[in-house]
Amino acid sequence: SDFARLPLPPAQLANLQALGYERMTPIQAASLPLSLAGHDLIAQAKTGSGKTAAFGLPLLARLEVRRFAVQALVLCPTRELADQVAGELRRLARAEDNVKVLTLCGGSPIQPQLASLAHGAHLVVGTPGRVLDHLSRGSLDLGALNTLVLDEADRMLDMGFADDIKEVLRHCPAQRQTLLFSATYPEGVQALATRFMRQPKTVTL
Ligand code: AMP
Repeated sequence: SDFARLPLPPAQLANLQALGYERMTPIQAASLPLSLAGHDLIAQAKTGSGKTAAFGLPLLARLEVRRFAVQALVLCPTRELADQVAGELRRLARAEDNVKVLTLCGGSPIQPQLASLAHGAHLVVGTPGRVLDHLSRGSLDLGALNTLVLDEADRMLDMGFADDIKEVLRHCPAQRQTLLFSATYPEGVQALATRFMRQPKTVTL
């Protein structure tokens, strides 16, 4: 398949084959060589473009399953999107055993989230307000984080999450890869990128 040209672990190539992924989508073809090489990335992509694999494959390639700590965080504007992203990450994570993906969204009861966090997770997908809530309570620790994804960044800003996102970013280690996906690139998104990303590459389709 197309994916065989990428520096992906053999187990992931086999998994992608099992999932029926033959050809890369345009966003995957443009972004994966850069993101797998470790670059920060600003990518223009919509839902349905295959963007979850575009950020999921690099973060999973770095994941150390035996290290039971949150190593990647994906911030999404809505619970609906977070559930979709978590579902796709779980499919991509089948390349390895026992990868734990947790969703933390507002509007869901906090108690089960606290219990899940106490059991530990490798990957967290959530909405900015609730993720910040857990960081403030101390129930979520991002000390071992190596990848931060801002998914549908323009929508998150439209929904008023700018301050929450900035506060979450303050809890992330400086040494990390930041991947930003946005359908549009308004001033607010540019400001986030300038302030919180390191020499990002840009992918526009
Ligand atoms: P996304 O835009 O990440 O929500 O992905 C949209 C849908 O396309 C999901 O159901 C994925 O499982 C599927 N998908 C993503 N990339 C590929 C690919 N390269 N080949 C086939 N299906 C894909």
